Amino acid sequence: MEVKLIKKSDNEIMFYVNDISVTLANAVRRSSFEIPIIAIDELEIYANDSALFDEVLAHRVGLIPIKPTRDIVMQEQCSCNGKGCSKCQLKLKLEAEGPCWVYASELKGEGKAIYADMPIVWLDKKQKLKFVAIARKGKATKHAKFQAGLVVYKPVAILKSYNTSYVKQHAQEIQQLCPKKALTVNNNKLLLDAEKCDLCLYCTEHSEAGIKIETSDKDFIFYIETYSYLKPEEIFIKALEVLSSNLTELQKQIKKLK
Ligand SMILES: [Zn+2]
Repeated sequence: MEVKLIKKSDNEIMFYVNDISVTLANAVRRSSFEIPIIAIDELEIYANDSALFDEVLAHRVGLIPIKPTRDIVMQEQCSCNGKGCSKCQLKLKLEAEGPCWVYASELKGEGKAIYADMPIVWLDKKQKLKFVAIARKGKATKHAKFQAGLVVYKPVAILKSYNTSYVKQHAQEIQQLCPKKALTVNNNKLLLDAEKCDLCLYCTEHSEAGIKIETSDKDFIFYIETYSYLKPEEIFIKALEVLSSNLTELQKQIKKLK
């Protein structure tokens, strides 16, 4: 197995993983839904004169990604037996009076909005909004607001064959063919950039160059984009930890069968 970095920034990472099975790649992707993440889960609304119903407002606030000031445990695993306490809950407050747009940055307390400029609601003159938000740790298998980020993969595209004499004569035309600009002609040879190719197969269907593209069944490109407080590489590592811990638990239970 080999891992090679393609690109990395604060909120995204892209890398090759060679020589793994598609089942393992998919198991890691699906395990990312089980990474525990802190999100706003309940609103205690004291005033809401806005045009939004309380339920719509609560749903909207719940989807705002927040960066907590401290870590908490899952409420169902807490020593409070699920009643709710400072070990499993964080509190944030918001108070505003119109006329104004209320933005995510106005959430104050044991966490702050990662994207400060997200608008929550418009308040007209003298309209008030006041609530306490309770954040809890949860998993995306329960609700999308607990999703750490986007984890996707694609098989590496392989250029299998093409008509060499056609490519030689129509080099310019072929380079223009791919919508992702993944094809280049160098010294009369056709080259495919696997990072850019999204396997749309437009080139195979709309050219007389006889281009044949296949997908690898053991080499993949992973792309991870975070929209939570976890770094993109942390999301991948935590997904692996989740997968590993689920397998360990399964192993433990199976051993009990003896
Ligand atoms: Zn608790």
